[in-house]
Amino acid sequence: MVDWSRMVEVVNKVLADVNSRFPTATSFFDHLEVTRWPDGATCPYCTSQRSTPLPKEGRHHCNYCNSSYSVTTGTFLSGTRVDLRKWLAAVVIVLSEDYTQSTARNLAATLSINKNTACRMSRLIQIARHTDARFLASMNLIVSEKRFP
Ligand SMILES: [Zn+2]
Repeated sequence: MVDWSRMVEVVNKVLADVNSRFPTATSFFDHLEVTRWPDGATCPYCTSQRSTPLPKEGRHHCNYCNSSYSVTTGTFLSGTRVDLRKWLAAVVIVLSEDYTQSTARNLAATLSINKNTACRMSRLIQIARHTDARFLASMNLIVSEKRFP
């Protein structure tokens, strides 16, 4: 049985921590870039590192294959419009042992998102455990000290 009130407490702590470390969505975005690409932005289409940053759009233009990409391109976060800091909190929740699909409504309330969005996010995170494990692990590591026991 999920002790949701305890989970809400932990999630609120995680959110407060994330929001104080990353006061804007952009600052978290930048951090995620360093986490995903410690050696510099790498094109997910052709793996070239020759790119021109497009800071206004939060994207990079690949000078080799002429594609444009962001830190979420090719990951389970691709195309999302939800604040990545909320995704980070969702990752912590969904990867916790206590999480079951039935708590999606609580997840929605805690993150102030729509229930369908919460369901979709939790499904994507669960799929990403198999398809995107490295990126998911690097996200979870950002708040690893706040993980559930
Ligand atoms: Zn490229």
